[in-house]
Amino acid sequence: MKRKPMSYISTRGATPAMGFSDAVMTGLAPDSGLLVPSAIPDASGFLPRWRELSYGELAYEVISLYSDLPEVVLRNLIDESYKAFLHPDVVPLRKADGFYLAELFHGPTLAFKDIALQFLGRLFDYILEQRGGELNILAATSGDTGSAAISGVRGRPRISIFVMFPEGRISPLQERQMTTVADDNVHCIAVRGTFDDCQRLMKQLFADKDFNLKYHLGSVNSVNWARVLVQMVYYFYAAFRVMECSGAGEVQFAVPTGNFGDLLAGYYARRMGLPIRHLILATNENNILSRFFSDGVYSRGPVIHTLSPAMDIQIASNFERYLYYRCSENPDEVAGKMAEFSEKGSLRVPLSQGVLDPLIKAGEVSNDQTIATMRDIHEKQGLILDPHTAVGVRAGLNLCASDIPLICLATAHPAKFNEAVRRAIGRDISHPVLEPLRNLPTRRAVIDGETGELKAFIESQLWNEGD
Ligand SMILES: *Cc1c(COP(=O)(O)O)cnc(C)c1O
Repeated sequence: MKRKPMSYISTRGATPAMGFSDAVMTGLAPDSGLLVPSAIPDASGFLPRWRELSYGELAYEVISLYSDLPEVVLRNLIDESYKAFLHPDVVPLRKADGFYLAELFHGPTLAFKDIALQFLGRLFDYILEQRGGELNILAATSGDTGSAAISGVRGRPRISIFVMFPEGRISPLQERQMTTVADDNVHCIAVRGTFDDCQRLMKQLFADKDFNLKYHLGSVNSVNWARVLVQMVYYFYAAFRVMECSGAGEVQFAVPTGNFGDLLAGYYARRMGLPIRHLILATNENNILSRFFSDGVYSRGPVIHTLSPAMDIQIASNFERYLYYRCSENPDEVAGKMAEFSEKGSLRVPLSQGVLDPLIKAGEVSNDQTIATMRDIHEKQGLILDPHTAVGVRAGLNLCASDIPLICLATAHPAKFNEAVRRAIGRDISHPVLEPLRNLPTRRAVIDGETGELKAFIESQLWNEGD
């Protein structure tokens, strides 16, 4: 039976519905909302068959429910994307004491962002090949998205990428992972400010219709629907593996959270019928989301720099997609609440029976607790966690239901975050992918958090590239 292709609509309701490829190329909707599928497909009838599939086969099934790509094209994109991974299972599961780890960090830049961005880089290339034209990707990174996005698009002739990161706020290693890439289509920009400043600059440029029309801006941040979509796959894959070996009929996930893209993918997987009892949202001291899920008030505070920098975020872009479902898919209500947030720095969603959402439990983990968790798990189990994963594990163990398995998402390889590793276990660790970076030359520009300067920089670089 042939399905009707999925269409995409904006959370703010003022953008005409569009197909999958347009949604991927658009990134942020022109009305400043986020694109969401017009309906969430029910996959519960497929689960028995899906349990038998390899990671790549499963990715095909999940993604094809939301896209209209021809079968051979989609299968090929998936194969090519996951060939670049260092583990044959793509996302191996590891049993630890009291929880399972789903290792999402076996991609080329050792962070979970690779899972979606290896695919997205190739998908952009395919769509541009079909349609002609070019794409200028504008990205804001708190550390890991930048290098993963660069790895997905470097050397692709129709694509240029401009990555902004907060100067001095990402680890030196993360910076080298980006600034040592020599391809002409890669441009790294250190912004004097916070990650939220980078994200604001990005949104301002997307909202600048003339600039956007002239330069065809695209997004690799998790405002891009394809990111969320591709991340759903590992929720299914990990749940199947853990249900298989534990005999449980239900699972719960702990998710280290920053921009809320990862957790949102789990939310969609649940809505599609995967038996997830709880999604445990773990934040570091930047606790805007953990506070929201306790009291229904979403209110911005100052960004605090922590040992888990990829989560040092106050304004989580994907929050708006969740809000859309909380507002019963009413775009006017979403637009109203987001206007309230941008005016007052806070918005409120009513609790029902004392909880905001029985699916989502939320907890905040401090720097000290992060280090203590890393040290404890290393001493007792010989396992070295990266600080982001440790935040998830701590909140997961604190908040989980005791009668079903807990799956903690391991979002980065610990060798990327040696400052925290050293504090926790007293020594550095290394990874062969990272060693060669130490000796390579670097390239980057530095700007203040101002749009005019950013636009001028982009134009000058495109002019040079065009030589
Ligand atoms: C990006 C990132 C996160 C946060 O994921 P979101 O989708 O932004 O919530 C957590 N851990 C690591 C290592 C990351 O790179």
